[in-house]
Amino acid sequence: MKLYNTLTRTKEEFIPLEEGKVKMYVCGPTVYNYIHIGNARPFIMFDTLRRYLQYKGYDVTFVQNFTDVDDKIIKRGHEEGISPEEVANKYIDEYFVDADGLGIKRADVHPRVTDNIQQIIDFVKDLEDKGYAYEVNGDVYFDTKKFEGYGKLSKQNQDELEAGARIEVNGQKRHPMDFVLWKSKKEGEPGWNSPWGEGRPGWHIECSVMSNRYLGETIDIHAGGQDLAFPHHENEIAQSEARSGKTFSNYWVHNGYININNEKMSKSKGNFFTVRDISKQYDLEIVRFFMLSAHYRNPVNFSDEMLNQAKAGLERLYNAKEKLEFTISNLSESSIKDEEKELIGELESYKTKFINAMEDDLNTADAVSSIFELSKFINTNVNETSSVEFAKMCLDKFNELTGVLNIVNKKNDDILDKDIEELIQKRADAKKNKDFKLADDIRQELLDKGIVLEDTRQGTKWKRA
Ligand SMILES: [Zn+2]
Repeated sequence: MKLYNTLTRTKEEFIPLEEGKVKMYVCGPTVYNYIHIGNARPFIMFDTLRRYLQYKGYDVTFVQNFTDVDDKIIKRGHEEGISPEEVANKYIDEYFVDADGLGIKRADVHPRVTDNIQQIIDFVKDLEDKGYAYEVNGDVYFDTKKFEGYGKLSKQNQDELEAGARIEVNGQKRHPMDFVLWKSKKEGEPGWNSPWGEGRPGWHIECSVMSNRYLGETIDIHAGGQDLAFPHHENEIAQSEARSGKTFSNYWVHNGYININNEKMSKSKGNFFTVRDISKQYDLEIVRFFMLSAHYRNPVNFSDEMLNQAKAGLERLYNAKEKLEFTISNLSESSIKDEEKELIGELESYKTKFINAMEDDLNTADAVSSIFELSKFINTNVNETSSVEFAKMCLDKFNELTGVLNIVNKKNDDILDKDIEELIQKRADAKKNKDFKLADDIRQELLDKGIVLEDTRQGTKWKRA
């Protein structure tokens, strides 16, 4: 498989450190709120990378952290009158609700920063002992000038970085690019005892420590959003490699940006969407399918129009599968026919196309296209005169490929029910407004979909005809 490595700016053949095994780390969420749609993209795409590597037979160890101590969490705690720990616990639970909806598998380990404080202190102490870190008034900084490879991920040398750095009002740092490893405790903040006094970890250090603790000094893949490449991942490399003297991660994989209605997502523009908001209108499998329909490194534009397109596409796949299952349940001829044997080559070709796309830097966009082609092939070649054997081969192939992407494995009804409920509500509103024409039209629209309405005293009930 080829993967685009940000470190070398080229697509490289993926070769794991240890044959048959993959060690993978993905930067996780800061748990102060529901995850937003920008967070969802890396989680979905790197879940897919993990699933594909497992499909290829690799034994993948996948670690994704929770940042559970952070300025934003502390602030949220103050606002809600609860402790930072309660804020974190709440939003970790909510993360799992959204991740489940998006079809994201649990990591093998979901470490939390607050469970790794001693490891973080030991790590920072090592850096200090080796001369890469210095303390000023209880704060500890990484000395970027001491680490020769600083800037290698973002392909900037130290002078360029310094010229680009905002001049911070921080007289404590030796150099503008130095970053904090340990922050001294301020009033109203959580703190832990350390050799530098009470304090808490900086953000970058946590991933270096947890990756090292759960996966070892060198890992295969470190992944995250493009916005994390600098400074977060650059700093992770500096900390980890300064301490171990070894390569931290062999492959650095980053996904592209997500725009909302062609604009950058921001709270001030009012186009900031959490996954939870979206789940009120769309089944989250549609969001997963939408993300998979683009290559992970390309920017994507998120809009109602695009989501509705994804929804229509996903429905086509569900319908194809449902029709195929229905056909199989009614077939009588069991053994494969000669003319069907001639089609097996073509059936296999869709899997080959799918694999070739995935092998080429996880091109899920083309992989999805190959599934559409397969479903078209099935629609054309499986009917009431087919043999059970051939029809089942087609279904197996369809399930195998959609299974790798973790899509089309629910009951179609789950996806459609939301639409039905919405239309029923619309009809009720129309009746209330005495728009009986619209109410009748909606009843007919539902009837065309095979949904029969029954108005009862408890409200409108529906069933499939
Ligand atoms: Zn990280």
